[in-house]
Amino acid sequence: MAKAWIGLGSNLENPSKQVTDAFVELNELPATQLVRHSSLWQSKPFGPQDQPDFINAVAEITTELTPLDLLAKLQGLEDLHQRKRERHWGPRTLDLDLLAYEQEVFSSEILTLPHPGIAERAFVLCPLAELDENLALPNLGKVKQLIQQLGEQACSEVLPLEAKVTTRF
Ligand code: AMP
Repeated sequence: MAKAWIGLGSNLENPSKQVTDAFVELNELPATQLVRHSSLWQSKPFGPQDQPDFINAVAEITTELTPLDLLAKLQGLEDLHQRKRERHWGPRTLDLDLLAYEQEVFSSEILTLPHPGIAERAFVLCPLAELDENLALPNLGKVKQLIQQLGEQACSEVLPLEAKVTTRF
């Protein structure tokens, strides 16, 4: 069983429901269990600003899927939510990123681990810190240090919609 962390984001068609439905769907993937998930956080869009705010969260899973098989399943869930890939960094019903898979460092045309961009993204780091601020990401360091590098304001600019971490599964 491998531990992996998934970043979830949505800014279309009831984003909170898109994300909470995806928690359940992650738990239903083959040979995969949702261990816990962060609160829902609201953030300003990254890139073009003429689109609704995003709802973001992070989920921790255990899985027997390989990283590439897991990525394919995540893309299948995005398709299930009828995500249309029209514009880079544009609005989306559901975006699922494989943030990290154990301590794997991997780079190919279709998968990079850890996910590139984690270090600059408060909407990933702040929910990840809710789950484990001492989590050390390969080549990047601890989540809490990455947040410090973004500045003290980082997690106040992405607002938690709910205060507590829920462990429902
Ligand atoms: P996006 O439009 O931001 O969801 O990017 C999707 C593309 O990023 C897909 O073509 C993936 O193959 C690629 N990709 C590379 N590394 C990752 C990763 N760690 N998690 C999710 N997608 C990835």
